[in-house]
Amino acid sequence: MKKLIYYILIMTIVTIILPMLIVRGCNTVIEDVKEKGIAKKAEVKIKVYIKDQDKVEEMSLENYVKGVVAAEMPVNFEMEALKAQAVAARTFAFSRMIDLYPSKEDVHKGAHVCTDSKHCQAWVSKNDALKKWSVLNADKNWNKIVKAVKETEDIILLYEDNPINPLYHANSGGRTENSEEVWEGMVVPYLKSVKSDGDADDPNFEVVTAFKEEDIISALKSKYPEILLNEDDMLSQFNILELSEGGKVKKIKIGNVEIKGTELRNLLSLRSTNFKIEKGEENELNITTIGFGHGVGMSQYGANYLAKNGGTFKEILKHYYRGVSFDVCQKVDF
Ligand SMILES: [Zn+2]
Repeated sequence: MKKLIYYILIMTIVTIILPMLIVRGCNTVIEDVKEKGIAKKAEVKIKVYIKDQDKVEEMSLENYVKGVVAAEMPVNFEMEALKAQAVAARTFAFSRMIDLYPSKEDVHKGAHVCTDSKHCQAWVSKNDALKKWSVLNADKNWNKIVKAVKETEDIILLYEDNPINPLYHANSGGRTENSEEVWEGMVVPYLKSVKSDGDADDPNFEVVTAFKEEDIISALKSKYPEILLNEDDMLSQFNILELSEGGKVKKIKIGNVEIKGTELRNLLSLRSTNFKIEKGEENELNITTIGFGHGVGMSQYGANYLAKNGGTFKEILKHYYRGVSFDVCQKVDF
């Protein structure tokens, strides 16, 4: 009798509990794939709209990730930072392949992603990547990227069993942003403001740009026709009203108009919303920006700093994307 109970117990573990444990993480992804009637195959393929050639190319997801790492992160960064970048790039792409984060505009010509860094992720072909490096280092650099991608093969980031939207940027200026402070209404539990040490290692951490006052006035007037400005004292027209948790300009009053820091950033093509405005040469204003990019998610310079200090790619990603887990997804084709 005892033997029978043991037998039933062992069979329950082997046939029910073990399989549940094994398939747990990828379930959501695989179900999404099945729902779309997509058959499983040996290699994941992605359709990429190559913007500067105006054509769609299909390639393996892993090869696409190599091109993104080569385009998005300096190759002299630490291996663990490159690996973190590879996982973020793969997750970004995979989540688009299963249409988790559809874009408002249809700019991909039927592809899953495009190569425009302002819309999706930058990407460069192997040939173009090799050309941008010196002959002496080209192969070595490419092999470093291949290693970063290979050592993270198929790994993606999940939050509650769904691939995340792994936004990233060059340099947060010391602290990342809450997603909802950059994009209104976009509250995302894993895109929260965190400390980002090492951002100051970026040689372009702080950049001063001189603007002619007349150029700023004309940009403001064309965007906000109702604006009233005292053009004789432009510096006094800018009043910062609110900072984000990440220390960046959230709201600013210019003349009689109140706008978001992100709006001014777009209007003047500022490197970030962490800025201050001072008097420059005659009829000029100097705008000093700290950091580079929207500031949400992983800071690439911060990732490199953590890697230099012994952080693994998983530790880096868990720092910048709070509460995430990892999974190796089954290979699927689209
Ligand atoms: Zn795109």
